[in-house]
Formats: sequence, structure tokens, C-alpha cells
Amino acid sequence: METEEILNLKNEAFAQITTAQTKEELENIRVAYLGKNGKITNLIKKIKNITPEKRNKYGRTINSTKQNIENLLFERKQQIIEELEKKEEWFDLTIPGIKPQIGSKHPLLETLKEVENIFRYLGYQVAEGPEIETDYYNFEALNIPQDHPARDMQMTFYLNLKDEKGNPKILRTQTSAMQVRVMEQIRPPFRVLVPGRNFRYEQVDASHGFEFWQVEGFVVDKDISLTDLFGTIDFVLRELFGENIKLRFATTNFPFVEPGVDTYMSCTICNQKGCPFCKNTGWSEIMPAGIIHPNVLRRGKIDPEKWGGFAFAIGLSRIVNLKYRISDLRTLNTPDIRILSQFK
Ligand SMILES: [Zn+2]
Repeated sequence: METEEILNLKNEAFAQITTAQTKEELENIRVAYLGKNGKITNLIKKIKNITPEKRNKYGRTINSTKQNIENLLFERKQQIIEELEKKEEWFDLTIPGIKPQIGSKHPLLETLKEVENIFRYLGYQVAEGPEIETDYYNFEALNIPQDHPARDMQMTFYLNLKDEKGNPKILRTQTSAMQVRVMEQIRPPFRVLVPGRNFRYEQVDASHGFEFWQVEGFVVDKDISLTDLFGTIDFVLRELFGENIKLRFATTNFPFVEPGVDTYMSCTICNQKGCPFCKNTGWSEIMPAGIIHPNVLRRGKIDPEKWGGFAFAIGLSRIVNLKYRISDLRTLNTPDIRILSQFK
């Protein structure tokens, strides 16, 4: 009688356990049979009421039933866990993938490469120089002695470092600082391009930054004239901006060139209608230049009686602004990926 009852309970429990779908269901079944007031637990409590002759057999049956239920609960639980893991691994090939974010070249470097290629075509070699410079190469060798008024136009960052003459080192204010460095190294004739960053203590606005890129270029050769300079500027800017640009040259004064020339290009951002970038003039000052001053050649141990040269500095940041029609120079210095990703 009692054994039959146990057998029924066992079958009932087995049926429930094998059809359970979740760990929670299994837990409920465990409590219903093996919990404090579980059906099996209650039968165990009854053992003491059973006659001693039957007690042994009854006890063994119920214990083995309890063991069987526990084992089956454990096995089913493992199955459920495995099925869950399989479900998570399941991979739907038809779901569209997530596009990874890949970088792109910065418009400044992209344009620099373009500028370098144009000049390489013209026979220039590319050189790079230090951003921390001595007063000598940045100013003195370029015909700008101490207390020359031109120094006031180039507000300079002075560093807590001294050069061999005891003067404070500076952050270079112009890539022209490389002119005499190069002249000391190689003999004319040569055509050299020096791209790089310069630093000036300036009020930052839409067309000025305290850090700006220049591409310095200089040529030393025989029979150099302003025509060579104008021809070079004209060729390079039309390669960069197309045939429709207008150029204007005006004389200006830089101590390291004689004569000095300012190059103005028609503003491509506003098509000469006037905008903050060109300060409503329709023209953007883009490339100061000139014939290299004999004193600079002498500093570079080149005889100005035999050799002549011209030099120019391209405002690379301005070129990028004009090329990509960005009306604010500061945009290029932002690390904001949303802005930079527009230039892909
Ligand atoms: Zn403009």
C-alpha cells in the first residue's frame, strides 16, 4: 500500500521534472516534493508510524525515491542550462552587421601630401626641422637682429631652455628658420620644401591660431628673379584650387627678403562676396614670399654675388580652409570625430 503510494509520487515527480522548461519550474518542483512540507518529506516523517516489520523496506524505498528525484532534478537542470547556452550562441546570418568606425586622414595632412606632390613635381626635396629652435636660426640668421621691430610682429613663446650662446630657446615662429640650417648642409643649386608647425603668441580667431602650419619653400640657383617666384606661386595655387582663382601680389617688407611680396588669392569660401574668413575683403592672404636677402645667403655660406634665391611660406591651414570651405580655422584643431569624419 505505502510502496504503491511512493511509486505514484515518483512517477508524478518524474513527469513534472522531465517537462519542466526553466530553472524556476524545477525549483518549484523540488520544493513541492523535497521541501520542508514536500510530499516525499511528509512520507519520511511518517516512517515512525509504520510497523517495525515494514519499516526497513519502506525506509529504503522512500530513500531511493528521494535520491532518484534529486538526481533527475540535477540532470534536468544541466540540460536546461545547456539549452540556454546554445540559444545564446545562435547566430543569425541575415541580421545586418554593425559598421566599424574607421579613421580617415586629417584634411591638413591630406592637403600637405598634395602640396608636397606638386612641389616634388617641380624638383623640390622635402626637409623637416626642429620645432624648438634657437634665436639664431629663427631670427638672427634671417636678418632679424635683437631689437629689430619685426620681432614685435612675431610674438614668441620663450622656453626655459638655453642654447649654447645662453639665449633662451623658443618655439619657432616660422618655418623660415630652416633656411640657414639647410644652406649650411647642402650646396646650391637646390629647391627645398619645409612643412611644419609654428607657434605665435596670438589672439585666436577665425583666421589666426597660436599654432599654425606653414610650408616653407626656397630655391637657390643662378639668375633667379621675381618672375621665377611669381611663376611658381601661380602654378602651385592653380594646381591646388583650379584655374578660376584670381591672384594679386603686393609688395611688403620682411627682413629676410628683398623685395618682399604678399600673395592674395580670391576667397573661395565666399567667392569674393565677403565673409569673416577674408574679413569681408574677398581676398585671403595666403603666401608671403620674396627674393632671399643677400645677408641670409651669407649666413648660409653662399656667395650672393654668384647665387640668388627666392623663398615663400604657404599658410597650410589657410589652404585647407579655403579648399574645404571651412570658414573657421579652429575647426581643424578640434579632436571632435563628428567634425573630422565629414572630410572623408
Ligand atoms: Zn571670403
